[in-house]
Amino acid sequence: MDPLIYVNGKFYKKSEAVVSVFDHGLLYGDGIFETLRSYRGQILFLSRHLDRLLSSAASISLKIDLTPEQIGQILYQTLEQNRLQDAYIRISVTRGKGEIGLDPALCPKPTLIVMAKTFRGHPKELYQNGIHASLVKVRRNASQSIDPSIKSMNFLNNILAMQEAMKSGAREALMLNPEGWVCEGSVSNIFWVQDEVVKTPDIGCGLLAGITREAVIKTANLSGVLVEEGYFPPEDLLMAKEVFVTNTSYEVMPVTLIDQNRVMSGKVGKITRLLLLEYRKKIPEFLAEG
Ligand code: PMP
Repeated sequence: MDPLIYVNGKFYKKSEAVVSVFDHGLLYGDGIFETLRSYRGQILFLSRHLDRLLSSAASISLKIDLTPEQIGQILYQTLEQNRLQDAYIRISVTRGKGEIGLDPALCPKPTLIVMAKTFRGHPKELYQNGIHASLVKVRRNASQSIDPSIKSMNFLNNILAMQEAMKSGAREALMLNPEGWVCEGSVSNIFWVQDEVVKTPDIGCGLLAGITREAVIKTANLSGVLVEEGYFPPEDLLMAKEVFVTNTSYEVMPVTLIDQNRVMSGKVGKITRLLLLEYRKKIPEFLAEG
């Protein structure tokens, strides 16, 4: 079946879903997005994703004439139209179509796109063996530039980081912030374990406040695992007993190799395993929260 994609009020076949070449999302990366996941037809952390979408929109003065409830309905309609249960969903909102120029007033109407596809999960081996990450030279953008708390379509910085990581065969790029503190991955938040305490960069480091990050911190607290948010140098990460990254699609993904350095002689650590298990166990509860 040709997937159906929502574009500004209508569903189109994938082969017919198009936007204008004058869309400022294309011309300038002027837009925002969210990626979400559904489990058996129910979207996880929907209200948090919508809050973050609207807060990203507000940060770039992009006015979306829809309530969070209406956007939520569009996301569910997309799942229904495509008969999806376990899905990966992406919503993109661009500044819209307008003449060339940077003035947002050139674009009277945002473009809203929702696409979804079946999500089959990542290979089990990755959770059993951990992934290879690379601490890259590309730094996370400064908060004074495109603030990393905005989930912006202007993603080139993260793409450059990922390209650098992929050159060494790594699956995720770990970035420092401009001051040199450990910050986040190109598509994930980072955590590590030292002396039985889970450490993760403070939001003040200039990172995307991941929804999975927040849920993992809560899960750790409820499991009696201490979490410290702070400003940490890269040496801490390289000396860690366990390392993992989080995002909507990974949930909790172990990292067992950072460049040439084996984390814990290449094995997935016990706190990482516990948090992945506990997070997955809590999904029905998270889904009930809405
Ligand atoms: N940081 C960045 C840069 C990301 O792109 C993502 C993925 N959205 C995350 C962190 C993790 O966020 P979440 O847990 O909300 O998926």
